[in-house]
Amino acid sequence: MIEIAYKAQPLGRKDLRVIARQFRQILGIENVLYVNVLRILELVMPTIFEGFEYEIVGRHELPMKRHADTDVVNRSIRIREDVYEKACNGDGQSRMTIMHEIAHYLLIVVCGVKFARSFSDEPVKTYEDPEWQAKALAGEIMCDARLVVGVK
Ligand SMILES: [Zn+2]
Repeated sequence: MIEIAYKAQPLGRKDLRVIARQFRQILGIENVLYVNVLRILELVMPTIFEGFEYEIVGRHELPMKRHADTDVVNRSIRIREDVYEKACNGDGQSRMTIMHEIAHYLLIVVCGVKFARSFSDEPVKTYEDPEWQAKALAGEIMCDARLVVGVK
């Protein structure tokens, strides 16, 4: 989550879907309906992305109301312990929180999507909003539209 307005290189839903499918392909989970987020975080990410780190932290270590965050400079993701525990128990929202941070990491660290503070008075366009991009990418990775009946 970012409070200050940031503007990223534009990426639309179609671009994000391509990135999500490539990621699923690299992981060998193209046809998997239930994505094992914790396995990706703990085993896959550190194996395929050199320098990737994650940390489970206490509630007081993250700003209030923040469940997780990504430090793109140090290439690490921090996850609040209660969110991690809930994800271990299969909680959908917590699994999505972790995938959201992985999505930030993939976009900025792996894909090299540039972003900068927005000083304009104009609201940041949806497809240039790093939060929207991470949310949409996480959704595409978690749920490939091709595998869902009735969705094209
Ligand atoms: Zn975010």
